[in-house]
Amino acid sequence: VASPQGSAQAFERAKHVVPGGSMRQATWFAPHPPYAARGEGCWIEDLDGRRILDCANNFFSLIHGHAFPPVVEALRAVVGGGTAFGLPTEHETRLAEAIRSRAPRCEQIRFCNSGTEAVMFAVKAARALTGRPAIAKMEGAYHGAYDHLEVSLASDPSNWEGPDGDPAAVPYARGTPPAVVADTVVLPYADPARCAAILEREGPRLAAVVLDTLTSKAGMVPPPQGTLDAIRAACRRHGIMLVCDEVIGFRLAHAGAHTLFGLEPDLIALGKIIGGGLPVGAVAGPADRMAVFDHTHGPPAVAHGGTFSANPLTMVAGLATLEAFDAAAVDRLGRLGDTLRARINAAFAAAGTPAQVTGLGSLFRLHLTTAPIRDYRSSYPTAAAKQAIPAIHLAMLDRGILMTPNCSGALSTPMGAAEIDLIATALAETTARALSAI
Ligand code: PMP
Repeated sequence: VASPQGSAQAFERAKHVVPGGSMRQATWFAPHPPYAARGEGCWIEDLDGRRILDCANNFFSLIHGHAFPPVVEALRAVVGGGTAFGLPTEHETRLAEAIRSRAPRCEQIRFCNSGTEAVMFAVKAARALTGRPAIAKMEGAYHGAYDHLEVSLASDPSNWEGPDGDPAAVPYARGTPPAVVADTVVLPYADPARCAAILEREGPRLAAVVLDTLTSKAGMVPPPQGTLDAIRAACRRHGIMLVCDEVIGFRLAHAGAHTLFGLEPDLIALGKIIGGGLPVGAVAGPADRMAVFDHTHGPPAVAHGGTFSANPLTMVAGLATLEAFDAAAVDRLGRLGDTLRARINAAFAAAGTPAQVTGLGSLFRLHLTTAPIRDYRSSYPTAAAKQAIPAIHLAMLDRGILMTPNCSGALSTPMGAAEIDLIATALAETTARALSAI
């Protein structure tokens, strides 16, 4: 598939029509990313003819890797019959049933086109259910590009402390309306007592607490039990809706990540793997919560639509994907992840490399410190790490392994012991080398 032009020329050409030369901030890194030509299983071939082991999996959205044959077949079977209708199809009901049968908390479902939309509709539903405007989120957590969730997305240490010592509500996008910031309460992930105090103070104005139980941007570590207890207690006491963002986390357990933590969310935002590699999002929850979207008794409390929501291609791809990601497959991939993290951490310890990987199930993330990672602050890269992380990312790519630019990764079902070997060896060596170079 090698193109006579290759990735360098492809990037030069793109710069004229795409700001920064890349359609997504996250798919750009210096000097330029390789361009993907095709993919099969856990391997990508780039425009320069190089084979790359894919640990990024389109930002954790491909659980079976690329061109998974059942997905390809399912797509072929429907594509000739039309790709989108201004009418429902039975495919949408089938995928909703498949999600509900494995994750009973997702009793009813509305599909949309991205995780951003999923979180947005969940927040709107929570506002409608409570009649309140404000939401709470964890410091540094990424939930997509909806305004309120972009608050406290990426702030540097000088912005961390508000006047009262609580995490500050720092807007991300320049020009964010002050009202958005005022209506976003930021919680410290790893400080249960402070979480409880903030929720007690702000509870009466909160529609929702939005929680990702393994937020990648805030360290990729599970929340402490105390934080979960504080959230559960506040939600009960103040009638706040618990919104679990499982756009990534749904892959962690057959019935969804909330079941790993004993949570009973009012609403669940889904995305990524449930679309089988096509654009997707969904908001799900118990029928009494999801009734805010019911339009059959007059105008619904929350308007939900989307021209391409529940398009048949996404629906059949998602169904084929979830059918093959059964409980046994979830377990196998989780064990593979355990092995990978243990192998890398043992190699760091043996070589005295001051680094660690965190994560759970099929997800992992590199940190260049041996201090415990608890939250956004403890995972915030030092000046040296800011230099070394991009170097490790590029060195891994040189060895033919793609991770996300912040050196996190996700396993996919086509991977086995051989791929774990490749990843563990390469990450241990590239990390040691990068750290000795600074
Ligand atoms: N929530 C989480 C936890 C995410 O990781 C992401 C995307 N990485 C989103 C929401 C937004 O999803 P999308 O990119 O599909 O809009």
